[in-house]
Amino acid sequence: MKYKVPRGTRDILGSDMLVWNRVNDAIAKITALNNYQKIETPIFEQTDLFKRGVGENTDIVEKEMYTFEDKSQRSLTLRPEGTASVVRAFVENKLYGGRLPIKLFYNGPMFRYEKAQKGRYRQFYQFGIEALGSGDPGLDAEVISVGWQLLMDVGIDSEEVKVHINSVGCKECREKYKEKLIEYYQDKTESLCSNCKTRLDKNPLRLLDCKNESCGAMANKAPSIFDVICTSCDEHFSSVKRYLEVFNVPYVLDKRLVRGLDYYTHTAFEYRNQKATSTQDAFGGGGRYNGLVEELGGPQTPAIGLAMGVDRIVLALLEKQLPQEHLNFFVVSMGEEEVQRYATEVMQMIRQHGYSCDKDYGGRSFKAQMRLADKCNAEKAVIIGDEEMKNKTLTLKNLKEGKQEILLEKQLKQQLERGSLSV
Ligand code: ATP
Ligand code: MG
Repeated sequence: MKYKVPRGTRDILGSDMLVWNRVNDAIAKITALNNYQKIETPIFEQTDLFKRGVGENTDIVEKEMYTFEDKSQRSLTLRPEGTASVVRAFVENKLYGGRLPIKLFYNGPMFRYEKAQKGRYRQFYQFGIEALGSGDPGLDAEVISVGWQLLMDVGIDSEEVKVHINSVGCKECREKYKEKLIEYYQDKTESLCSNCKTRLDKNPLRLLDCKNESCGAMANKAPSIFDVICTSCDEHFSSVKRYLEVFNVPYVLDKRLVRGLDYYTHTAFEYRNQKATSTQDAFGGGGRYNGLVEELGGPQTPAIGLAMGVDRIVLALLEKQLPQEHLNFFVVSMGEEEVQRYATEVMQMIRQHGYSCDKDYGGRSFKAQMRLADKCNAEKAVIIGDEEMKNKTLTLKNLKEGKQEILLEKQLKQQLERGSLSV
């Protein structure tokens, strides 16, 4: 084979696409129900936006960005995530001057140079929401509930996913917490992985979510932010938990769940796939980022967001059951062009009434066309030959029950209009 897709990318085809459609339909529904509006931002942005918005000492900026120079030597980067772009658009378009909070969502490809494996790709897809302009704890719970409800709507079982929540406090709480952590890790640096060793001074919170086993064991015993949290952050978190009860979202407290950067505040959350055995076990996650809008040049604006990994949701669904194609009608037509033109007319009439319909374009035999109708999982066949063409009739066959009937074309039209078919 001469040409192959680049490593970490793939084609989405066949019945897989049916699952993608199902997830995308559920996204359209849940965002509409919760009043989130779609936003499209460019696939590439100025590199500095991500350096600033995602953070210089994150995995993404340190090693995962697809950065390139265009022909005018501008440094551009394929978007590795969605929040920085949405916040840029919020500031650039002065959306802070409009009705707040503004509730937005996106759904599209992201790019990260990662070790490609199952559930981890270099081009992957994220659905995300961002609600900017309110610090109401009820909004934190709403955002968490949207991700949860999406998983339930597409058919993930409630036992298959756990919602982990935590608070990372405000800047002041975090400063105190950082000191506590540094103190805790002080005499343990020898057993830390090299990544954690270098991060201890810069950003000790990051040590808590290290995937290395021995680092994990130490993190489990580390002090909790709740030892130092201020009253206002504590109250916010308690309120989020009470609202989660109202939204009917079950959750577990997870003091190791952190977002390391200073503009992340208060609530952090993640949806973990209980069935996943790999480190690709997060369906998605998010949190409050009350400092990010200001960091990117806008006015001080509280905000909260969520990002779901659509690829990982689709993978989990594919492991359950492959979906089937489905068609309302298949026109089986035997004859020369005149017959085919009549068959096409009937097919178009069916489609215009809102029913899916297809026909053979391969000159197949009657038997082969019936097999094709079956493969397409058509509910009904419309059989047309010379006789039918001359008399403007057709044979309507129910492929599930086997019953059939001869009808005039206009009778079929009437039945379609009424929405009730005779067989
Ligand atoms: P991980 O710990 O798995 O690397 P992350 O913390 O980098 O995830 P986020 O930046 O929070 O992930 O992105 C939100 C979601 O997007 C993740 O929970 C995951 O479902 C999905 N995701 C992230 N990176 C990838 C990838 N390379 N391929 C597929 N999905 C991804
Ligand atoms: Mg990652």
